[in-house]
Amino acid sequence: MLDLNSKIPSGPLEQKWDQHRFSMKLVNPANKRKHHVIVVGAGLAGASAAASMAELGYNVSCFVFHDSPRRAHSIAAQGGINAAKNYQNDGDSVRRLFYDTIKGGDFRAREANVYRLAQVSVNIIDQCVAQGVPFAREYGGLLANRSFGGAQVSRTFYARGQTGQQLLLGAYQALERQVGLKKVQMHTFEEMLELVVIGGQARGIVTRNLLTGKITSHAADAVVLATGGYGNVFYLSTNAMYSNVTATWRAHKKGAAFANPCYTQIHPTCIPVSGEHQSKLTLMSESLRNDGRIWVPKKQGDNRPPSQIPEAERDYYLERKYPSFGNLAPRDIASRAAKEACDDGRGVGPGGLGVYLDFSDSIKRLGKQTIAERYGNLFDMYQRITDENPYEQPMRIYPAVHYTMGGLWVDYNLMSTIPGLHVAGEANFSDHGANRLGASALMQGLADGYFVLPYTIGDYLASTKLEKVDTSHAEFRAAEQAVRDRQNKFLGIKGKRTVDSFHKELGKVMWDYCGMARDREGLKKAIGLIQTLKQEYWENVNVPGSGDSLNQSLEKAGRVADFIELGELMCRDALDREESCGGHFRTEYQEEGEAKRNDDAYAYVAAWEYAGEGKDPILNKEPLVYENVHLSTRSYK
Ligand SMILES: Cc1cc2nc3c(=O)[nH]c(=O)nc-3n(C[C@H](O)[C@H](O)[C@H](O)COP(=O)(O)OP(=O)(O)OC[C@H]3O[C@@H](n4cnc5c(N)ncnc54)[C@H](O)[C@@H]3O)c2cc1C
Repeated sequence: MLDLNSKIPSGPLEQKWDQHRFSMKLVNPANKRKHHVIVVGAGLAGASAAASMAELGYNVSCFVFHDSPRRAHSIAAQGGINAAKNYQNDGDSVRRLFYDTIKGGDFRAREANVYRLAQVSVNIIDQCVAQGVPFAREYGGLLANRSFGGAQVSRTFYARGQTGQQLLLGAYQALERQVGLKKVQMHTFEEMLELVVIGGQARGIVTRNLLTGKITSHAADAVVLATGGYGNVFYLSTNAMYSNVTATWRAHKKGAAFANPCYTQIHPTCIPVSGEHQSKLTLMSESLRNDGRIWVPKKQGDNRPPSQIPEAERDYYLERKYPSFGNLAPRDIASRAAKEACDDGRGVGPGGLGVYLDFSDSIKRLGKQTIAERYGNLFDMYQRITDENPYEQPMRIYPAVHYTMGGLWVDYNLMSTIPGLHVAGEANFSDHGANRLGASALMQGLADGYFVLPYTIGDYLASTKLEKVDTSHAEFRAAEQAVRDRQNKFLGIKGKRTVDSFHKELGKVMWDYCGMARDREGLKKAIGLIQTLKQEYWENVNVPGSGDSLNQSLEKAGRVADFIELGELMCRDALDREESCGGHFRTEYQEEGEAKRNDDAYAYVAAWEYAGEGKDPILNKEPLVYENVHLSTRSYK
């Protein structure tokens, strides 16, 4: 069993982070330049961590498989970033952001981490404004805010529907400044395929260059994985096509526990699936629910055009069921409500798998110009994809896989169960419990990178004895060989099915049995199906070409192999958790259609340990202790 010491500092909640920062050891400025830190990933979490560590004086090597850090999936983030600034004077505070996040996560996140997140949220906005991020402003010049799901205050800062892009440009500039100063060495087109552990500590990585196929070792004193989420295990998701689990999965197989893998966020407002050959789903930001009203016809099978359905025959089901939060009910709840309406035969559009998101009231109230200013790029995107004009007719939306709350287990210092391996952003199991509130992923990724890791990695380096290690160490040779062997194995199978066909099949199994609704029998069935799929994959996949040049089938083969193993673990995790909480909805555990938690038996983080090929993974439990909030049934009514 693993030692899951969360290292939560003692003392009152409000003072934990301050006291911890004081008690952590510092590396003196002259010694910082003697240390080398590897950061894998340059999305918001990785770029902010790499830039901040370099700014402090550490030598940083940053790796991405993209051609530029600016291609990271973070660039897709649309709606905004939360912070407890209380600019609106509408009752917000650090405490309220903390509470909303804990409650939004259905009481399955660590109190201390979430409180720290709320505390540093205010620093993030200052940092980004100083970098020149063009947040929307009010007429008088103050930063503007809008509301997101699960909150009754307006605390979301935004830059039209391009918040991620603008934040990433800020972080990227900070990173490039350090590249210019030669404190960061930027490695593009390099895919991390192995973590190297020496003497029980993470001491480096092995990468493959995607253009030349060259396999290289890189040594360091500490490694950060900021490699994003794994929603693409479902094949269809709102994630960028390249998002995958490989870096964290390979670290998992080297000893890093994987926490809460089954906690997946299904976002309620995505453009519905349109056909068999689709490979990507598109998000319509939650910010649209500030001004859009969600409804379906009251009558089953009513397929009149929306303009011909009178008000009295429409069911604004979120406003009806959750009057306090209305259209801004949290994502898990809004998604389930949409599914329920469609399952009831009241869905709209092809196949009845859609609900309306209607702006007509807001356009009447505020004018088209205001709506265009707020959401213009999202409306354009919708029109380009569907050929329907959302200014004139309601959008059609349906839930889709969007975010993964699970990830590598980390302690309060964001260190995994492998000493020296730190994990940031969506890649860690993070602060969102069983359901992430909107606009809080960007907040968490930047909190991790700008404000937490620069302290905690320093503490690790100052308090740990590190042997001198370079890439001539036998462990690097062994890791390189493992990468080569795996690659040759894929190329040698010469089977009949494409990598994509396996991915698609896996995605369907995951969606059908481990998606918006799950049950015992379905999950057991899925585990069997995935095991069979894995066997066939390794016998019948076809990876054409060679390993010594650009070969996208080969790249994908490795990622899908990891997705298949992860998919099985997700189903095992979902099977173990005999309760419903947040994004994990077990149909056996519900009360009047709402999720029914079981705090006595399941108030824990499930941290899975890899036990070896062909062996069942081992479940370790970190009990979640709540000293500052009362565990209540989540209500948005
Ligand atoms: C469409 C969409 C809209 C969203 N909107 C919002 C929003 O408005 N507000 C909000 O808070 N959240 C939003 N989110 C969620 C948020 O965007 C992500 O959770 C967040 O950006 C993840 O950032 P990250 O830095 O952890 O990872 P990413 O941005 O995914 O970056 C991962 C990095 O790791 C690198 N990488 C990965 N694997 C490897 C490997 N093996 N080797 C080398 N490099 C590797 C990649 O090159 C990349 O640089 C949205 C998500 C989506 C899909």
